Amino acid sequence: MPLVDLKDMLRHARAHGYAVGAYGAVGSNFVAAIVAGAEAAHAPVIVSFAESHFAHYDFPALIAAAQSTARRARVPVALFLDHGSGMDSAVAAIRHGCNGVMVDASHLPFDDNVAATRAVADMAHGAGVPVEGALGYVPGVEGEDAERHPGEMRPTSPGEAAIYVDATGVDFLAVSVGTVHGRLRGEPRLDLDRLAAIADAVGVPLVIHGGTGLSDEQYGALTARGVAKINYYTALSDLAAAAASNALADVEAGYTAAIDALRAAVADEVARTCAVFGAAGRADALLPACRHA
Ligand SMILES: [Zn+2]
Repeated sequence: MPLVDLKDMLRHARAHGYAVGAYGAVGSNFVAAIVAGAEAAHAPVIVSFAESHFAHYDFPALIAAAQSTARRARVPVALFLDHGSGMDSAVAAIRHGCNGVMVDASHLPFDDNVAATRAVADMAHGAGVPVEGALGYVPGVEGEDAERHPGEMRPTSPGEAAIYVDATGVDFLAVSVGTVHGRLRGEPRLDLDRLAAIADAVGVPLVIHGGTGLSDEQYGALTARGVAKINYYTALSDLAAAAASNALADVEAGYTAAIDALRAAVADEVARTCAVFGAAGRADALLPACRHA
């Protein structure tokens, strides 16, 4: 199955009440494992590349490899720039082969967020690539990447969301309704009434950042209220680190044992969460609904 249009993919997900996992990849082993996990679940999948991770790999080389993996995948795949900082990174990501981009100006005042996001959306739409904007603020708490999201949570206002989507032309909206980047401390409290009000106010698929650590019931509550994309990285990072470090304890087993352990751990977690998000088994039904990217 091919690389598919992300807008078609997420429209299908929102219309049918499930979410596609957007799994953070930090190297070719992650890309392979994420696609393998989705194949095991017969689920559509988004492989996500966070700009904050670019120091850890050669992004143009990895995206080229990911395109090759996607084209040979047995499930529909999209390749996504996560937390793009602005126009330059969005242009570069699209040139290199991402078929969806996020512009994260959620730390800016409303009018500045709208202006920055609108400019990227106009450019990306000219290239046929859909855009995720963010309104409200999802802070980091602890763990990898948490420190890159300092400050306090700011919930998304449903009224502002409607104005924002209209004014920017974004295709998907990342919202702040109680999740955090990184690891959670204590019980997550989701503002589901707020989420439902946002879903009523905007027609576009909604996106949850900081998807690690919720209960299965909470994921179901999200997908029942317009969430069509769930960003999921921290748990993959934790499981990959544990699996690799266990394997590396036996030096004589070799480095490839750690690669195999990492891949198996990531693929298993991707397959598990595809089922939790309701995406498992959707690949065949989704494909005819999607233009090829
Ligand atoms: Zn995020």
